[in-house]
Amino acid sequence: MPLIASPNFDLHAHSTVSDGLLAPAALVGRAAERGVTALALTDHDEVSGIAAARAAAVQAGIALIAGVEISVSWGEITVHVVGLGIDPDAPSLRAGLEGMRRKRTSRAARIAESLERIGIRGSLEGAYRHAGNPELVGRTHFARFLVEAGVSSDVKSVFRHYLAAGKLGYVPHEWATLGDACAWIRAAGGVAVLAHPARYKVSRREMQTLVEAFKAAGGEAIEVVSGNHDAAQAAAFARVARAHGLAASRGSDFHGPGEGYAELGRLAPLPSDLEPVWERLAV
Ligand code: AMP
Ligand code: MN
Ligand code: MN
Ligand code: MN
Repeated sequence: MPLIASPNFDLHAHSTVSDGLLAPAALVGRAAERGVTALALTDHDEVSGIAAARAAAVQAGIALIAGVEISVSWGEITVHVVGLGIDPDAPSLRAGLEGMRRKRTSRAARIAESLERIGIRGSLEGAYRHAGNPELVGRTHFARFLVEAGVSSDVKSVFRHYLAAGKLGYVPHEWATLGDACAWIRAAGGVAVLAHPARYKVSRREMQTLVEAFKAAGGEAIEVVSGNHDAAQAAAFARVARAHGLAASRGSDFHGPGEGYAELGRLAPLPSDLEPVWERLAV
């Protein structure tokens, strides 16, 4: 039987340009070492790491897919939409993301105030010390500071006790609309992917409404195999992809070594009957 090398696509990963721990070039190098054949750099609300990642990918001999992960407010919850195969210079995408980054600065001050009220001092400066890109300061940087300050033992427990929705350090925030996020991605020539759907705390009925709204906004694909999903969740979202005619994506959501994130390129393959989203990308 001929051996066919199956491609190892990892279409969701972060660098120091958002809340990852590795610079774009180091991230690409690590992906190549782990056998990834095509990596998407999908920093939160920011595309400025793509040029360096692309140069490193040429050196490493792997494909680099230009991506972004856009934060979206959908009703009461926050959802994430990954854009793949985008032109990082597209004007509407750039302008949209720039507006989002400006609002992160004021949110950071409000997070620090809420932590101050429960006796945690110095978190604004602390978070900025951990932010590789000050425009992208976010909850992960606060979490790393809180671990450093000894408030919690690890990043996951900081979220559980302080930073998750409803906890004392959480502040509500208005992100992009689903329509805007998908429109920016499409205007940049990209494919919109609903990220890690199992993370959203919604009923089955609401999930169906979300997927329908996402499709109506121009969304084309959904993450089925994700570093955030267990096998049962992957199977459940494979069914969602089939039921709604969505292409399927596979991505680790790697943020760096340690902190409990999935490793690059180590996920299960996509179920073979689904259309892989990379067939819609010029890889
Ligand atoms: P932000 O966009 O600033 O609200 O931060 C969102 C980021 O926080 C996500 O992309 C994850 O990297 C991280 N995050 C959210 N929830 C958790 C959690 N329960 N455990 C660890 N990291 C989390
Ligand atoms: Mn993140
Ligand atoms: Mn996400
Ligand atoms: Mn992510």
